[in-house]
Amino acid sequence: MLLSLVVCGASAQSDRAPDSLCRVVLLNVGDPLLPAFIALDRATRDEIRAKVGRPVQFYAETLDMLRFPRAQLEQETVALLSKKYRGAKVEAVVAIETTALEFAESHGDLIWPDTPIIFHSVPTSYLARRTLSPRITGVPVRYDIEPTLELALRLRPATRRVVVIAGAGEFDHELIRLARGAIEGRAGKIDVEFLVDRSLAEARAAVGKLPVDAIVLFLSMVRGGDGAPHTSRNVVTQLAAASSVPIFGIFETYLSDGIVAGSIASFETQGRRAGDLVARVLKGERPADLNVQPPVQPGCIADWRQLKRWGIDESLLPDGCDVRFREISTWERYRWQIDLAILVMFAQTALIGALLFQRYRRRQAESAGAQLRVELAHAGRLVTIGELTAAIAHEVNQPLGAILANVDSAEMLLDSDDPRISDVRQILADIRKDDLRANDVIKRLRTLLAKHEMTRERIDLNETILEVLRVLEPEAQRRHVELVTEFDDGIPRILGDRVHLQQVLLNLVLNAMDAMADTHVTSRRVTVRTARRPDGDAEVTVSDRGHGIASEHLSKLFVSFYTTKQRGMGLGLSIAKSIVEAHGGRIWAEPYRGGGATFRFTLPVTGDSGRAATAERPA
Ligand code: ADP
Repeated sequence: MLLSLVVCGASAQSDRAPDSLCRVVLLNVGDPLLPAFIALDRATRDEIRAKVGRPVQFYAETLDMLRFPRAQLEQETVALLSKKYRGAKVEAVVAIETTALEFAESHGDLIWPDTPIIFHSVPTSYLARRTLSPRITGVPVRYDIEPTLELALRLRPATRRVVVIAGAGEFDHELIRLARGAIEGRAGKIDVEFLVDRSLAEARAAVGKLPVDAIVLFLSMVRGGDGAPHTSRNVVTQLAAASSVPIFGIFETYLSDGIVAGSIASFETQGRRAGDLVARVLKGERPADLNVQPPVQPGCIADWRQLKRWGIDESLLPDGCDVRFREISTWERYRWQIDLAILVMFAQTALIGALLFQRYRRRQAESAGAQLRVELAHAGRLVTIGELTAAIAHEVNQPLGAILANVDSAEMLLDSDDPRISDVRQILADIRKDDLRANDVIKRLRTLLAKHEMTRERIDLNETILEVLRVLEPEAQRRHVELVTEFDDGIPRILGDRVHLQQVLLNLVLNAMDAMADTHVTSRRVTVRTARRPDGDAEVTVSDRGHGIASEHLSKLFVSFYTTKQRGMGLGLSIAKSIVEAHGGRIWAEPYRGGGATFRFTLPVTGDSGRAATAERPA
């Protein structure tokens, strides 16, 4: 039969429609679901599909001759495949591994006449002994046994003994042969022991008892010494679990729960290189022109977890070594989130610090403000009391004068012939009464004149007002002003400072009297009321029949130094305002019906309220 080159590529000369199907046989030698074959198969197919640009149909065949003796089944297999592919136009046969290549080479003419054969995963050592037919090309692989041993000794410099383990299968023996050739050339500093043709159980027991200066080089175990078929990957996993020393190997699938490292050709690369070659053949290039390709270069691949398990320093690995299964630490995994969280925490800390500092400054300012208020209030009281001097002098003089008159009367009585003791007693009683009266005035004044920190106590509001009105009474009389009270007797006690609240009353009543200087004497009246407001607060009002306040001045009254009086200081109302507010209340002015002005201030009744609480502690 003539060799007719079948072309799938659009650019090449072809007798087929451009979208005709490419048929490719993938000839495997083992279980196609082994991890190694899966990796190779996927990479090969992907590369072919990507490069050919036409629909490709793959036919996967497995000879399974790694496990079943080849001679026993070969003829029947050839007959079956010949029958199967008779009449079907197969454009390429991909031979995976040495046995498949030999089979395809021997029987390809019969089963897939004139079809190019492209191999991969065939070792260079095998190919060196062979001359291939022109219709065969492929990508060889190098089993890097010696570089793997070098790598192992580099990672375990204290090694004195190398135990090479392999099974009893054909493939295993091929690797043993390669290993002997590679290792025997080494200088005899290290003992090399070949543990071959053993069962898995024997091998497992042996690796569990190795001394610390030993390492294991695992080749493969397709079949154990007891004839049991195995998957090498599973064998190495079991050996690694039982071993007292690290294990090294040459196949990629031995990584992950198996070997520590090795000089390994990646299956992905092998598959892709082979796929690329198949695609070129499918697009029209002749296998004879392509030659056998350079082998896939193995390189260092290591398992990070095994390095950790055996305490091997990663820095001993050669540059560019592919370290796999690295466990990313929480720090690495959530790096930016952690950075962000730290940043937020820093920002929060800074913010809290700034707020605390601000609070400290505010406290300082509040404390200084409160102190200033106390000083100012005291100065204000001195000034106010100063205004009352004349009336007070009169108030004190009255009892003093009465005392003097009574003393004169007593003397005269005692000078008489028959002084009646009962009259003397009466005079003495009057003297005591007047003295107490004078003393009372002085006491009240002393309280008001003393410098006084703001305190908090439960006080009777009506009683507190009455006390201050008593002080003002003489002045009111002097000015012909009638002081009237309208008290709500049901007002509960409030939490506050007696002296400071009295100062508020002093200012308001004196202002009221001032405002009535031009009011007819018969109409001069100041009314002080207490009442409970609908919101529950206590309210004190001071109303007069004076000249009143123009509405445009209402807003200025409580501003410091605002005054309309010739000798006024303009501080009385601003001090009153600060005292009321320190008690948690409000103060304002409004016109009084029928002329005059009304000043009102409120005080919270429950001393436990927040407002009162803030007011009570100026410092
Ligand atoms: P001073 O009494 O030193 O002027 P105040 O702060 O006590 O300072 O009062 C400020 C101003 O408010 C007074 O000058 C006055 O114009 C006005 N004022 C206060 N009380 C009354 C009132 N009862 N009637 C009318 N005006 C008033």
